[in-house]
Amino acid sequence: MSVKLFQDVETMYEGRLRKRKDLLKIDIPAMDLVEKCRVKFQKFIKHNFVYQWQATQFKNCVTEFPSDVIVSVVDFAENYTFKEQNEIQSMHWWSNQVTIFVHITYYRSQGEIQKVVHFFISDDKKHDTLFVQHCFMLHWGWAREQSTELRQHWVWSDGAASQFKAKRPFYFVGRYQSLTGLSMIWNFFESGHGKGEHDGAGAVIKRALTHEQLKADGEVLKNAGDVVEFLRKHFQDSDVKRVFWEVGINDVNRENEWNCEGIPQLRTLHSVRGYTWAGSHCIGVRQLSCYCYNCTRGLWKRCANRAHVTNWEYHTMVPLEDMDTSDTRHLDNEMFMTEGNGDQLSDALMVGDTFAVNAEEGNPEGADFYLLKCIQTKTLATTAICDGWDNNIGPGTFYVTGVFYERIDDAMFRLLDSAPPAYLYSHLVRSIKIPLTQISNAPNSALYSISLGAYEAIYNSMPWDLVE
Ligand SMILES: [Zn+2]
Repeated sequence: MSVKLFQDVETMYEGRLRKRKDLLKIDIPAMDLVEKCRVKFQKFIKHNFVYQWQATQFKNCVTEFPSDVIVSVVDFAENYTFKEQNEIQSMHWWSNQVTIFVHITYYRSQGEIQKVVHFFISDDKKHDTLFVQHCFMLHWGWAREQSTELRQHWVWSDGAASQFKAKRPFYFVGRYQSLTGLSMIWNFFESGHGKGEHDGAGAVIKRALTHEQLKADGEVLKNAGDVVEFLRKHFQDSDVKRVFWEVGINDVNRENEWNCEGIPQLRTLHSVRGYTWAGSHCIGVRQLSCYCYNCTRGLWKRCANRAHVTNWEYHTMVPLEDMDTSDTRHLDNEMFMTEGNGDQLSDALMVGDTFAVNAEEGNPEGADFYLLKCIQTKTLATTAICDGWDNNIGPGTFYVTGVFYERIDDAMFRLLDSAPPAYLYSHLVRSIKIPLTQISNAPNSALYSISLGAYEAIYNSMPWDLVE
């Protein structure tokens, strides 16, 4: 059969034989084509399978939960940006944006499912795990008034590393039982697929705020307190039950980071169950969530989906001494990270870290991605700038600076530390703190190797570009 495929093409470039990829029309036996596609599709199929699986388990979870369980779906909505209003142009600006953390709650009252949407609104714009933990404790204060039967809390969120899917959020899952008396299971949707119900909930609120601010005689809204007061007054009438909370700018206690030792292979997990055992905070982890009849009742050993869902793997959370609290970065610094958006990742990037950025399809090197060593952290370009590799950065945008590693083969890279530094838009950063092993330290050509697991994780963090 005849198809168009990206093919390796060898060319001479500056006296060296280089491989590049080009879209060529070729004749190929069907079986060879199948083999070519197999590897690419395997990853795509696995990603799709996990996405479907988690979505199905969520549906089971939220319809079949027993009366001693409260179910939550949480996420940050995009910050609300205040619109300019005539009345306050001369006033001191408290804030130009507010944080909105959406917490959708399901519980049973006399057997019937009740749904309440909580909005935690704040001038505190740090979307970190400590903010999330603070909101969860406020939420618990509300939940225990609703039902005295509650014994478990099942939570769903995306896998954002700065807020939900990292060792410190997992430590909170482990501690939750000692804080509230409820055991917590936190589940992660597979990333990268559309918007959920919480996006809609956040959008409704923001539309109402914008509408009010654009009215000639609208109420003056200039900070989180005003927003909460306005929403409490005007947003209680509909059939959806809403609760509005104001989180004060200094309410979240960040003196204790609640840090702990890492959990291996954390990024591939989709379910984390906290419990306390012999005075220690512990978690069990699974690759996939399960809310089959037996798992819903805690009869894990009789799980109906054992062909897919592995047993819980148990870890004791080991607290770490508090690190320097003047350090305001809120991500787990030392951890290899391949999920979360480019802005979260580039925020956590430090000088000396190895990071990966997108390589365009059909790039001359045939690279799956580019590796760089960071030499300057995220910076705002005040004027247009250009590096020695013809990368242009526009004014008013954020970029990071690094030196390239040259790929020798799949597992081996050479650090080009005498080549010109490269400027890269911060949103292109896809993986950070990549673990490399140094093999030789010859000046200007230090060699490093990368494990297959790390390579695959980086490969999977790149955006999907399916060629039809
Ligand atoms: Zn099960």
